[in-house]
Amino acid sequence: MSQTLKAVRGTRDLLPPETELWNRIEATARAVFARYNFGEIRTPVFEDTALFARGVGEETDIVSKEMYTWEDRARAQSERPQSLTLRPENTAGVVRAYIEHKLGETGQLQKLYYIGPQFRRERPQKGRYRQFWQIGAEVIGPPSSGSESPLRDAEVLEMLATLLDELGISGWTLELNSVGSAADRARYNDVLRAALIPVEPRMCVDCQRRAVTNPLRVLDCKVPEDQPIIETLPKIFDSLGEDSRVHFSAVTAALDAAGVPYHLNPRLVRGLDYYTRTTFEFTHGGLSPQGASSPGTPILGAQNALLGGGRYDGLSEAIGGPKAPGIGFAMGLDRLVLTLQATELNQKAAPPQVDAYIAPLGEGVNAAALALARELRRAGLRVELGDGSFRLKKSFEAADKIARHIVILGEDEHRSGILTVKNFASGIQTKVPRAELAAHLASTASE
Ligand code: AMP
Repeated sequence: MSQTLKAVRGTRDLLPPETELWNRIEATARAVFARYNFGEIRTPVFEDTALFARGVGEETDIVSKEMYTWEDRARAQSERPQSLTLRPENTAGVVRAYIEHKLGETGQLQKLYYIGPQFRRERPQKGRYRQFWQIGAEVIGPPSSGSESPLRDAEVLEMLATLLDELGISGWTLELNSVGSAADRARYNDVLRAALIPVEPRMCVDCQRRAVTNPLRVLDCKVPEDQPIIETLPKIFDSLGEDSRVHFSAVTAALDAAGVPYHLNPRLVRGLDYYTRTTFEFTHGGLSPQGASSPGTPILGAQNALLGGGRYDGLSEAIGGPKAPGIGFAMGLDRLVLTLQATELNQKAAPPQVDAYIAPLGEGVNAAALALARELRRAGLRVELGDGSFRLKKSFEAADKIARHIVILGEDEHRSGILTVKNFASGIQTKVPRAELAAHLASTASE
């Protein structure tokens, strides 16, 4: 026997009824984005590798070890082989599209959202996959469009608080920080590099490397033994210039006015190099409640970030575009699903019932049954079509499991146009003229 094939490690199939929840989350996100006047952008799933190397940063974990990259063969003389990469995140692609389509020339602020899969070769575990989904949005434009205003930052954060509330996710924390301008960061990097010299030999090998190449990344370290050392390092806030401080206090003042709670976290520098000024994460440290499959365990496993984002005022220039400050975020759809599944214990409930199961009595009326199903479905009903090879008993058993009604279609019913309908909840069996059938099923559909 040949070996059975399985989904690749770190990828998974999403099946109904769980996909209903995915759709609900996506629909809620789209509705919220529409109210804030965002439009949808869809960028390709793979891009030129250079986009991520230059946009996300060579030294980041994503670019240095997690990308799915391959040399794409040329198919024709006119083509050249090219290094391509499955997108590990979507901001670089959106900014590339912004530049390519000269969206800045409109002079307008661009407010774009996306929903789609991203790919990173990470170590798979609960809440962390190699193909995962992100819902994200970007606000970007030339400086004259107001894209640098701290009000944009506060508005994006307020929108996220609204979105999480509308999704029914409670118990989130907004972690907020400013990493300053490129100049502030350069200054802080020097301060940090100097402060790391005496302590770095006692840290993990990754930190020893980062201490030299990119000291800011040390603050991301999750190794427990390194945490007390990291706590003693200088804080980025003390290296911020006047402009960055004023910008950040305007963000927090607007959040205070809007009543969006936040927690200042000076260690939040995030994993991507392009961030400037405001950076943030929404975390959820919740435990699964009693009655869940594993009560008391962290809902998101070792990961507690639902979403992350920040400002990227220099990203467009880094990939060859005009000055286009922006702010955006990406939320993990897989993690939203996990959180909602753990908190809504009824998520594992039975799939939605269909309004009617049509049972043709004999294969001679199969075709007529399809015509009837078409009629009812076009009237907006959810219909399952049985098969004339089933005995009546078997049809009843099949229907009872999934449907509110069974509609029996034998030769007599077909000829007379009067159908036999049974409502499973009430047990009542009636005769209904075909012209009234859809209305009858709909009126009793919500009983
Ligand atoms: P990042 O692009 O790393 O800032 O990630 C933004 C959000 O995407 C995170 O807060 C997670 O919710 C989600 N995310 C990132 N990587 C993964 C992954 N490998 N599997 C599932 N979700 C992820």
